[in-house]
Amino acid sequence: MRLSRYFLPVLKETPAEAQIASHRLMLRAGMIKQSSAGIYSWLPLGYRVLRNIERIVHEEQQRAGHIPMLMPTLQSADLWRESGRYDAYGPEMLRIRDRHDRDMLYGPTNEEMITDIFRSHVASYRDLPMTLYHIQWKFRDEVRPRFGVMRGREFFMKDGYNFDVSYEDAMYAYDRHMVSYLRTYERMGLKAIPMRADSGPIGGEDTHEFLVLADTGESEVFYDSAITDLTLGDRTIDYDDRASLRAVCEEWTTPYARTDETHDEEAYASIPEERRRTSRGIEVGQIFYFGTKYSEAMGAIVTNEDGERVPVHMGSHGIGVSRLVGAIIEASHDDKGIIWPEGVTPYRAGIVNLRQGDAEADAACEQLYAALGDAGLDPLYDDRDERAGAKFATMDLIGLPWRITVGPRGLAKGVVELTSRRTGESEEMSIEAAVERLR
Ligand code: ATP
Ligand code: MG
Ligand code: MG
Ligand code: MG
Repeated sequence: MRLSRYFLPVLKETPAEAQIASHRLMLRAGMIKQSSAGIYSWLPLGYRVLRNIERIVHEEQQRAGHIPMLMPTLQSADLWRESGRYDAYGPEMLRIRDRHDRDMLYGPTNEEMITDIFRSHVASYRDLPMTLYHIQWKFRDEVRPRFGVMRGREFFMKDGYNFDVSYEDAMYAYDRHMVSYLRTYERMGLKAIPMRADSGPIGGEDTHEFLVLADTGESEVFYDSAITDLTLGDRTIDYDDRASLRAVCEEWTTPYARTDETHDEEAYASIPEERRRTSRGIEVGQIFYFGTKYSEAMGAIVTNEDGERVPVHMGSHGIGVSRLVGAIIEASHDDKGIIWPEGVTPYRAGIVNLRQGDAEADAACEQLYAALGDAGLDPLYDDRDERAGAKFATMDLIGLPWRITVGPRGLAKGVVELTSRRTGESEEMSIEAAVERLR
């Protein structure tokens, strides 16, 4: 992409309404524009990041054997009357009436709709296990929408639902979700810690939230620092191997890690003192086993191996796709701007032409732009007629992992300059070597 032909409305001033870094930076970098409280347009740069995150979520879910689909945003109130949640949900649900006076709602989540789909088509244990998911816009009329896309009213979420014939199978689904979520966050360059969450009346080890540590997080968290050392790295995960999935989950759920909702002072006190940590965290996902709550209420029944008719065991599992954009920035920025992890960056490398209009500099930039494009490296070429300082400031703000600076002085020596956004370190090398390095 050439910046002169792109739409990147960066702001010079720091927007006064933004209280936290990620919100400020998303506005300044021209990623989003608020259309009304908690509702945003995703401008081209922001949209690219959102799509990258969505793609990683899709890849990791499908790797775990989960099946993608797409349900609508608008739902009929009748389904929610069946589960009893139409009245229970309260003012967070946006209720709408159509021209025939039918009650509709903008879905805050999809348990009812997916249970209805399931019960219409599945009647035997032979079709199980089954996990269906989609990535779709949700609406929750939050009392206090704030922090930009972190707590929006309309937001993009992956929600998946498992259907199993037994508790044991549902726990296998739970483990698949935990491991696939760990992989998902790791690919985004994030450390998200699974923390035992409050499961309400059901009890037991059946819900975890995933939290990214950040001072601006809304939850208070308590954990054993040992958990932050855990990584999946390039371990191979076999989703068909239940025992190995369980082992990974054991590894991640053994060190103490809880939010204020489930915090247990006594258990916390038994962690060696030098490993006790308290901090704040951003909830970027949650997995939940809730048994037969919806299947009983809505008649999602299958015959089991013994020919008995039993309600299916279910769970639901969510990732805050749009919130993640903000969470990643909270975890990765400095005073100049965003620092994108490679996995989600909107473009891999930016090209800065120090002397736009100079025949030699222009030609070198064109050569570099073509070579990076051919290598699939998604370059963003700042070909505007601007001062070098302004170009550098834009690149630092939008946070691409690599900047390649091209100018007459370097070209006289046959080199361009490759700079890492994260470390700030620069190195001079030929155009060919720079392309090779990024490949
Ligand atoms: P929160 O505690 O932040 O209100 P939640 O527990 O109500 O979130 P879930 O129902 O668990 O949310 O939804 C799954 C995920 O969707 C959350 O982990 C979070 O990442 C994301 N999410 C929830 N509400 C919002 C929102 N208002 N704006 C953006 N993302 C959200
Ligand atoms: Mg909520
Ligand atoms: Mg929550
Ligand atoms: Mg939650």
